[in-house]
Amino acid sequence: MKDLEELSVDELKQKYCISGKKATSLFDLIHRGDKIRKVFKINDVECKAANAFAEKHSICKAHPIGGSKFSYIFTPTIGMNVHIKCLICGKKKDITDYDCW
Ligand SMILES: [Zn+2]
Repeated sequence: MKDLEELSVDELKQKYCISGKKATSLFDLIHRGDKIRKVFKINDVECKAANAFAEKHSICKAHPIGGSKFSYIFTPTIGMNVHIKCLICGKKKDITDYDCW
């Protein structure tokens, strides 16, 4: 069986019994997500650092409805530099795992 990412628009249409328009939007959605995951990713070490930062900022309260709390800033240099920023208090931390460069 094929993975979702490998299906064409026609195959999505057939598999999920949806219209061509819906299949096209679904196709775009699947591949847009795929592109984002491929370009911007953090490893386990960076994920742990991000979680520690989030823990420290648990006192910073985001807006209850759809409030984003953190931004991830990716800066390509010789490796990929990653910063996390608390959107509530404005503090920023470098969470780059330099050992993997
Ligand atoms: Zn904060």
